[in-house]
Amino acid sequence: MARPDFRITCCLCGKPIPRASDVYALDEEWQRRYPTMVGTLACKKCALSPQHFWKCQVALDEYVPGHHPAADPKECYDSWDHIVGFGTHAAMVMVHPYSGVLQGAEEYLRWQLGRPGPDNDLTKGIREALSLRDESAVSSQPR
Ligand SMILES: [Zn+2]
Ligand SMILES: [Zn+2]
Repeated sequence: MARPDFRITCCLCGKPIPRASDVYALDEEWQRRYPTMVGTLACKKCALSPQHFWKCQVALDEYVPGHHPAADPKECYDSWDHIVGFGTHAAMVMVHPYSGVLQGAEEYLRWQLGRPGPDNDLTKGIREALSLRDESAVSSQPR
């Protein structure tokens, strides 16, 4: 089977991210601020634009209520500190398979699992994300 072609749909603007552009992974604090986000993978424009820029603190040493601290860096200041990484479409869906499944890479991830290769944390994560997908597909079917 040929490598399935896919493009990630941005979790914030809902547009397909150009294949040549990097995909940005956002964390829980972004999800808390934008509850309608589907998945956590965003286009560069949304991740870095002034439109979505926010600060963690409302005053000196006072975080906004409900703030989820960033995993890294330990002290966070703004939305940029809550970007957990960026990279190619293919790399980002391997590292963030739950979002990958939700945002357009389901077929690609199934194809990845079917290829010969090492069984490691990446393949384990993909397998879990896909089985969760299969379970929710079964439970949402009419009886
Ligand atoms: Zn976007
Ligand atoms: Zn923060």
